[in-house]
Amino acid sequence: MRRGAGKMMEEGMAFEDVLAELERFKEQDLKYTRILSSMCTDPHPIAKIAHRLFLEANLGDPGLFPGAKAIEERTISMIADLLGGDDTVRGYLTTGGTESNIQAIRAFRNAAQIRDGNIIVPQSAHFSFDKIGDLLAVEVRKAPFDASFRVDPDAVEELIDDRTIGIVAIAGTTEYGQIDPIEALAEIARRNNLFLHVDAAFGGFVIPFLDSHPPFDLSVEGVSSITIDPHKMGMSTIPSGGLLFKDGTLLDFLSTPTPYLTSKNQFSLTGTRSGATAASTYAVLRHLGRRGFKQIVDRCMQMTAKLRSGTESAGITSPVEPMMNVLTLEVANLEQVIERLAQSGWRVSVTRDGFMRLVIMPHLTEPIIDEFLSDLEDATKD
Ligand SMILES: *Cc1c(COP(=O)(O)O)cnc(C)c1O
Repeated sequence: MRRGAGKMMEEGMAFEDVLAELERFKEQDLKYTRILSSMCTDPHPIAKIAHRLFLEANLGDPGLFPGAKAIEERTISMIADLLGGDDTVRGYLTTGGTESNIQAIRAFRNAAQIRDGNIIVPQSAHFSFDKIGDLLAVEVRKAPFDASFRVDPDAVEELIDDRTIGIVAIAGTTEYGQIDPIEALAEIARRNNLFLHVDAAFGGFVIPFLDSHPPFDLSVEGVSSITIDPHKMGMSTIPSGGLLFKDGTLLDFLSTPTPYLTSKNQFSLTGTRSGATAASTYAVLRHLGRRGFKQIVDRCMQMTAKLRSGTESAGITSPVEPMMNVLTLEVANLEQVIERLAQSGWRVSVTRDGFMRLVIMPHLTEPIIDEFLSDLEDATKD
């Protein structure tokens, strides 16, 4: 690195020199081509263009950007429709699954008016719920999963007490791609008069397009809210998240007055908020439609099946049958195998229980899967 590169310079550099510098940094970044560890992907080309078009739009001050605001509203309506919601649904576009989950639990806590309360989440919950415990001062109780890595509803019910605010279910777990038994959990939530949040950060743009799937969304009676991430399988730009409340009045429990802005109040966790990601998400939804998304999901599922049968032929077993485009594998000497794969440029990840975890995203192709299979076989041989 050049001397003084980390200091704020007195005189600025030439436009082209700065860009050249950025290009060199960019070269250090990995291309998605050999990444099987991430739930993010190269955004759809229309997402990149839409993002650039609305770079300066601040949804934190919507009166100044009514066009961007209208885009957000239409996007929320489209997502509500996709996720089984009706006209009573309200929500907003967040920065991702973490903000959506924080805000859902915050709304529940404020509505329930319980201090020192608790929430019950599956053991498989995303680590954002650990942040939530810390931020919102709620106790996060973890319910164990069954043999197929789905939360056990009886175990959830046993953890309920008079300080319980709500239950969380996951539709597309980060580690195993499993769908919790949402109908059973919704029944428990209704019976105990509790809120139920569905975290479909990853699954939200996958499950609706599978050939068959269990009920998981706002159409299930007892589901209060849902998280969905356009910056994962929604092919949008980062940071794009979505949060929807089935009973729109829950959103009001997140309201903060906003003096000196064009709006009277605000529901988001962040203040200044990107209009670019709203445009990006809107553009992808409009351009792909349900059929376009189905094609993408179909292709990812075909590649997942190919990877599953290829690994099986190589004698590598899976702890669970993949429900979506996440495959976990039982691999001996896992660390060494990951190291070998990394030497060939592959990035894979692991679950907390020590399985290899592969996410089969749209940036992969059948020839890449073949190449990976062959390298994986080599890496697992001694
Ligand atoms: C990715 C993910 C999150 C967190 O989303 P971010 O966009 O990374 O904040 C939360 N829950 C689930 C199930 C996820 O897969």
